[in-house]
Amino acid sequence: MKFDLKSIRFNTWLYFFLFSMAILLALGLLQVTMIKPYFRDQRVSSIEYVASEIADDLLNKDKLLQADIEDTFNMILNNDMCAVIFNDNGRVIYEEDALGATCTFDRFTTIDGESFIPLVEPIKIIESVVDDQVLSTSIISDVSDQEMVLYGRMIEGDLANYYLFINSPVEPIESYIELFTGQYYIIAFVVFIAAIGTSFFLSKRITYPIVKIKNEASKLTNGDYDVDFDIDSYSEINDLANTLAKTGKVMETTDELRQDLIANISHDIKTPLTMIKAYSEMIRDISGDDKTKRDKHLNVIIEEADYLDRLVDDMRDVSKLQAGQQTLNRTNFDMKETIERIIEHYRGGILKDMSISVDTDLVSSVVWADETAISRVISNFLSNAIKYSFADSKIMVRMIDSEDRLRIEVIDDGKGISESELPYIWTRYYKIDKGFSRNINSTGLGLAIAKAILEAHGAKYGVISKVNVGSTFWFELSKDYDGLSKRD
Ligand code: ADP
Repeated sequence: MKFDLKSIRFNTWLYFFLFSMAILLALGLLQVTMIKPYFRDQRVSSIEYVASEIADDLLNKDKLLQADIEDTFNMILNNDMCAVIFNDNGRVIYEEDALGATCTFDRFTTIDGESFIPLVEPIKIIESVVDDQVLSTSIISDVSDQEMVLYGRMIEGDLANYYLFINSPVEPIESYIELFTGQYYIIAFVVFIAAIGTSFFLSKRITYPIVKIKNEASKLTNGDYDVDFDIDSYSEINDLANTLAKTGKVMETTDELRQDLIANISHDIKTPLTMIKAYSEMIRDISGDDKTKRDKHLNVIIEEADYLDRLVDDMRDVSKLQAGQQTLNRTNFDMKETIERIIEHYRGGILKDMSISVDTDLVSSVVWADETAISRVISNFLSNAIKYSFADSKIMVRMIDSEDRLRIEVIDDGKGISESELPYIWTRYYKIDKGFSRNINSTGLGLAIAKAILEAHGAKYGVISKVNVGSTFWFELSKDYDGLSKRD
């Protein structure tokens, strides 16, 4: 399989992976920035705790005895500290040291910018804790160059005051940090491997349905409509699959319609041309001198030429209407009068037993529409009703009030249209009779033109039909300007 940097699969994997790495990095940074101050605070608190324990112990004694404070001083040894207690005169009363050379009490120590050796000048260090002040400061050991905490406080006894100082390096932090860093690397490595695997798995899982849809959809582009979009995945992908399945169906139908269309157009143009050619040859070879025959043949040629003319006109009109190039010329006109005029026109041409009637009890049937265009729609509905009915059929044009609209129905009891054909009859060149039985009056464009005109009017329209029962073609027009505002 070709590796594609722009593929959803690779990018989903990449984003998941980068996301995991970003979390790892954030954890690492957090470790570096937070862990040191955290341990330092812990260390200072533990020094303060030990100091307060020692102070409490000493306070409870009337007389300070070596044996009494031995236990507490063990704490100092166990906690990596050195400590000294001075009395009021600066004499060392007790001293304990677990640090050795790094202990600051016999070295130069800087407190508040002043440098001195506490054991040599004890009064100076004592001054920093008199009057219940607590000393808690950070110093850098000149031996190990490490950060140390210096803590001190005064202990008020019954007989005298004592001054306790404790010194301890923050240093074990480094070993903790090293320990944690080591662990962090191990965790980071495991997470790194897991991130690669998990993101690969997730990206594959998420993109699988998309890839499947893509593969099925690409079949459509090759004209293969045998596709399977039946996918049970995430909601959005299911929606996409459903949409594509519908698109596939529409494409399939459109393709069939396109083939019908080409067949129909070629048939519609070819037939009259063949007729024109045949009759012209007949006039040339046979009927040229016989006026009666010649006129008969010439009439056929003229009829066929008229048909071609109508076909081309209809084709142009439907294209113009559908492209929205034809503007409507709306006026207020009386629908009943228009319908009666059209019916009158058709009455002459229908069979003896056929009838056309108007059915309405409306007082006013004024509508706001383009009269010429609407006449064309009614003419088409009527001529279809006549064409697709039986010799003794009854055709009726009904007008009904429909709130602010006028509903016009052209009803016939003719051949009717099957349910499966109904959605397509409004499509241009669509003819149900695929046998191309020739009808000189049928261009297959009438309903496409009617549809375009009604849609330009924003009119509702439709058809109700049943095979061998009949059809009702209907539409609704605004009674007044815009169907909203009343006119004077
Ligand atoms: P045509 O020129 O073929 O009549 P139309 O666009 O007017 O074209 O109609 C499309 C098709 O719809 C017709 O070929 C016909 O099969 C069907 N049709 C239209 N009106 C009726 C009707 N009243 N009864 C039965 N079938 C109809």
